[in-house]
Amino acid sequence: MLTLSGRVIRIESEAPKPLGLKRDGRGLYSLTTNADLPPGLRSQKALLVQDRFTDIPTGYSHYFAFGPKPEGFSGDWTVMGAEFGYLAEGDVVALSEGHLRSLFRANSEHNSILLTEQCNNYCLMCSQPPKRIDDKWLLDEAMDLVRLIPRDTRTLGITGGEPTLFGEDFIALVRHVKNWLPTTSLHILSNGRYFSNPAFADAYAAVNHPDVMLGIPIYSEDPALHDYVVQADGAFDETVRGVLNLKRLGQKVEIRVVLHKQTAAGLPKLAEYIARNLLFVDQVALMGLEMMGFTRANLDALWIDPIEYKRELSQAARILSAHRIPVSIYNLPLCLVDPDVYPFYVKSISDWKNEYAPECEPCKKKSECGGFFSSAIKYGYSKSIRPFCD
Ligand code: SF4
Repeated sequence: MLTLSGRVIRIESEAPKPLGLKRDGRGLYSLTTNADLPPGLRSQKALLVQDRFTDIPTGYSHYFAFGPKPEGFSGDWTVMGAEFGYLAEGDVVALSEGHLRSLFRANSEHNSILLTEQCNNYCLMCSQPPKRIDDKWLLDEAMDLVRLIPRDTRTLGITGGEPTLFGEDFIALVRHVKNWLPTTSLHILSNGRYFSNPAFADAYAAVNHPDVMLGIPIYSEDPALHDYVVQADGAFDETVRGVLNLKRLGQKVEIRVVLHKQTAAGLPKLAEYIARNLLFVDQVALMGLEMMGFTRANLDALWIDPIEYKRELSQAARILSAHRIPVSIYNLPLCLVDPDVYPFYVKSISDWKNEYAPECEPCKKKSECGGFFSSAIKYGYSKSIRPFCD
């Protein structure tokens, strides 16, 4: 698992000069390993110091290194630990009071901007438990970050918490992403409830982003069960009305279903509900559980070995695909699903938190398998893992 956030060893600088707007002591830096940038461009980049450099070039806004600043060198210099050794050309980091956060990795297809930790749901299995805090600084940081992300980035996510809680400011961010990264495919995770307000849905659609998808969870066709899973009365009604408003406006929507003890048995019924009432959604994602946040606290209510619901998973995939609704199966080990769902199987776990179990060592299908969340390896996973050996 990659360390995306941690303390640095030392900052040798009186006053770091970030590229992103510096607020509350936080500054953003776009990294380069190119020591030969023209002098006029150097102030827009922070140099990631490499062993191969014989001399350290001057003029960069900041220097991130794994060793001490050379004698007599006057640039602002941060010494990092080896855990940040993965940082590379095009990455963006935030440095604040001795704390470094990796916000964007140019070599990854799994970059997401955490926009807020606030949420109006309180899901049993939330991997990012909501906080009642004013974290508008995250939105401000996101606006700065987007300006520093390489223009050829293929995909970008926005996640929370619930990003739409920022209302008009959320819409402004989507517009900002469209303007700065016009060819980047954008995926936004939302509980969809705010889109039940037609004016808000209209404002979102008016951005007219060429390639944006909203991932919205529906956990059951039974409103009471959905509301129980998200711990919010009336959420099902608002979410479904949100999806209807968005599709009326021609917006792309993916329905996401996290699979656990509360949702697995009802999966075929939910698939039928979607096929009958939400046939026009763009995709349905059926997703394994991540052992993070509230999941660990609610494990008795949530944990079910995926092998126990593979029949329901196959049934749901069959129902959806029979109605020509694209289906994807995320976050599940390949040996825990039946072969009839292989066409829908996606290696989906973000690279920085993706691992394999010791049992996987001899498996001949490891390269096709999505493996596990690092949290599962740490806190527990299915006892039914069986490597493919012939
Ligand atoms: S044994 Fe093979 S299929 Fe099963 S989880 Fe490990 S790599 Fe995946």
